[in-house]
Amino acid sequence: MNISSVLQKEKLNKDDLIFLLGRIAPDELDQLYAAAYAVKKEWVGNVDYYRGLLEFSNRCIKNCCYCGIRRDNGEVERFDTAKEDILAMARWCYEQQYGSVTLQSGERQDAAFIDFVEAVLREIKQIAGGALGVTLCAGEQTKETYQRWYNAGAHRYLLRIESSNPDLYKTLHPQDGYHRWDVRKACLDSLAEIGYQVGTGVMIGLPGQTLEDLADDILFYKQQNIAMIGMGPYVVHHNTPLGKQVCEDGLDSPEARMERLRLSVNMVAVTRLFLKDVNIAATTAMQTLHPFGREMALKAGANILMPLVTLPQFRNQYQLYDNKPCLEDGQEQCRNCLSARVASVGDRVGWGQWGDSPHFFNHLK
Ligand code: SF4
Repeated sequence: MNISSVLQKEKLNKDDLIFLLGRIAPDELDQLYAAAYAVKKEWVGNVDYYRGLLEFSNRCIKNCCYCGIRRDNGEVERFDTAKEDILAMARWCYEQQYGSVTLQSGERQDAAFIDFVEAVLREIKQIAGGALGVTLCAGEQTKETYQRWYNAGAHRYLLRIESSNPDLYKTLHPQDGYHRWDVRKACLDSLAEIGYQVGTGVMIGLPGQTLEDLADDILFYKQQNIAMIGMGPYVVHHNTPLGKQVCEDGLDSPEARMERLRLSVNMVAVTRLFLKDVNIAATTAMQTLHPFGREMALKAGANILMPLVTLPQFRNQYQLYDNKPCLEDGQEQCRNCLSARVASVGDRVGWGQWGDSPHFFNHLK
């Protein structure tokens, strides 16, 4: 097998995905990323879309072993954003021609939370007659709740599967009957049945994760008909069970972090080559490991950026992992900085457009 012949193939199989994911030689990586960027240009254009990311609450009933805002992390001060502030930021996104806003929070399933999100969605849809696209990212819910939120105006939903391998998923979550892979997968199914554009993704470079696992993750995206993909390197949070273990085992050296970044960029490229017409985010976690991590992802096939619009006073309390970048930047700085990043790779910004995944519409045809 050599990289040129694999990249010329009409259809890639699982062995090809594993082969491509494992490339490390600089000349091979150049070929891989150039091929993925060419597919991006052909299928989704060299236009990158913004989703203003508003982290509106860090309260969470879950205890995922890798996450900085897990329920048992007593170091975190919990916050909720008032409805008026969420609406003001959504309006700001609209005025800045972001096209879409993403509302993200920890997971809660109580009636007050469900009602609150529903009310916020209804009011956001009144901004400029529904011109602002809305993506939700608020964890596992019943199908009924997802339906209510859809009816209120959300049309995209992000729920990371974290790993398509149920055994690996178990190592990332407490075994309390409350963090179940099959439930998460069933949520993805419900979202698709309701009519959402469904997004998912995985963490890359986890202890015990193999190239075959990552290839299976890409096959999982295809099998689930996923329209939007948000994935990134595993980044340690110091006050989590997984983060402590990884540090104790000596697995968080600078070399190990660079390896996770390389693997993540390879995942973006191979996913673009294999799925072609989906949206793929250049995630902030990439930039945590390298100042130009997001540019690398854009050059390898990503086409979505999520500038932070979380209120400045809450940003420090929404750290899923350590050293999250841009915490000190105002939303104007984020906007300008990301636009410069987009221009630097030769792309342009799709101002004022929803930038829906072409895949969502192509698979309905
Ligand atoms: S990953 Fe999500 S569900 Fe898990 S603890 Fe963090 S915010 Fe909660």
